[in-house]
Amino acid sequence: MSKRDYYEVLGVARTATDEELKKAYRRCAMKYHPDRNPGDKESEASFKECKEAYEVLSDGGKRRMYDQHGHAAFEHGMGGGNSGPAGFGDVGDIFGDIFGNIFGGAGGGRGARRGADIGYVMELDLEEAVAGTEKRIEIPTLAACGHCSGTGSEDGKLETCDTCRGHGQVRLQRGIFSMQQPCPHCNGRGKTIKNPCAECHGNGRIEQEKTLSVKIPAGVDNGDRIRLSGEGEAGPPGTPPGDLYVEVRVREHAIFQRDGDDLHCEVPIRISQAALGDTVRVPTLDGEAEIRIPAETQTGKVFRLRDKGVKSVRSRSPGDLYCRAVVETPVNLTTEQRELLMQFEATFTGDNARRHSPRSSTFIDGVKGFWERMTS
Ligand SMILES: [Zn+2]
Ligand SMILES: [Zn+2]
Repeated sequence: MSKRDYYEVLGVARTATDEELKKAYRRCAMKYHPDRNPGDKESEASFKECKEAYEVLSDGGKRRMYDQHGHAAFEHGMGGGNSGPAGFGDVGDIFGDIFGNIFGGAGGGRGARRGADIGYVMELDLEEAVAGTEKRIEIPTLAACGHCSGTGSEDGKLETCDTCRGHGQVRLQRGIFSMQQPCPHCNGRGKTIKNPCAECHGNGRIEQEKTLSVKIPAGVDNGDRIRLSGEGEAGPPGTPPGDLYVEVRVREHAIFQRDGDDLHCEVPIRISQAALGDTVRVPTLDGEAEIRIPAETQTGKVFRLRDKGVKSVRSRSPGDLYCRAVVETPVNLTTEQRELLMQFEATFTGDNARRHSPRSSTFIDGVKGFWERMTS
């Protein structure tokens, strides 16, 4: 599993341009190409490694995925493999499914004869998305008819199709070409129903509200999709069901904004705390933390709390929490507070005022320069 970093393989910086990548690849090819090193297994392996690295990094989309997720971006589900029916209830499976789906694309190349996939949008609170949860959902779907067990036949009897003689395929002659096609009479099933089921009229499926329990792994984020194999619509008689895709939407949080693995929040502080310094309590997703506000803190100063962010589905360690200090103007002043502030304000006189107000000083200088330019 210790796969080398693609940039390292090619010996280029992470910021390498397409041109630099091409050059690096050419260099590797010159050195390791099997034609130049016949029978040398090590060269061959190196060449393959370079080729793979170049194929990923020279493709804008793949490079972005690799930059974000590393080798994990391509390790799972590139073939859109189906992991078999009803794999849920097991977090491991769902993880596999998440990766398979995010990186592999939704089940391409599967046979057409199966039930339709269903999409379901699940809204979660930030806390639920971060900690993981289990939710019951109700989805309208086509389920296998219980009356005929999905066969579509009232008495369970099926007859061999006359048209294709049970092969399910018919040959079509088009000029000199002979082509195989699914039998139009039995839809490729090879069998026909003599007495259609009274409940589903031979369809084998009925509309139904299905209740499912869905496990959401910890760390999911907006737009992540979880595939539940075989939980989509039932297929026509004799074919497998589709899959259910649960897409995660995370509701806005009153305090935290999430940015990947990091969380951001604002911490209001009083003007006196900002000026004198203080220790303030801040919320985190797993309780409270303290930050030390140094004296003379301005609005906008950001304090980082390491590892107090989110551990996403793909990351090994949690991100950080960034707290942005916002100095608040006091309201509902008492007479005493008003008087104290008036006394305080009275101390700002003449040039003395500028010493204590770094921002206004730059502002006033800026305004002055602006007027001078305007009037000259
Ligand atoms: Zn039926
Ligand atoms: Zn047929």
